Amino acid sequence: MQEFGLHHLNVEDIAQIFIEFRPYLGHCRFSNCLHLVEPGCAVDEAEKSGALNTRRLGFYRVPAQEKLRAPRIY
Ligand SMILES: [Zn+2]
Repeated sequence: MQEFGLHHLNVEDIAQIFIEFRPYLGHCRFSNCLHLVEPGCAVDEAEKSGALNTRRLGFYRVPAQEKLRAPRIY
C-alpha cells in the first residue's frame, strides 16, 4: 500500500483517481458501490463491454480490496 501512496485515501477516493471511471461512477445500482463485486455495477458493465481496460481496473481493485481488508484508522 505504501508504495502506491494511497494509504491515506478511502476506497471512494481511489476510484476518483481513475478519470476514465468517472463517467460510470454514480450510475451503479447502489449509491455506495465500490465497483468490486456488487451487482449492477456500471464500472463492471463498462469493463465487460470493453469500454474500460481490465488491467486499469486491476490498478483500482487491488488497492481497493487491500483497503477493505485493513482496519480503518480515521
Ligand atoms: Zn460500481
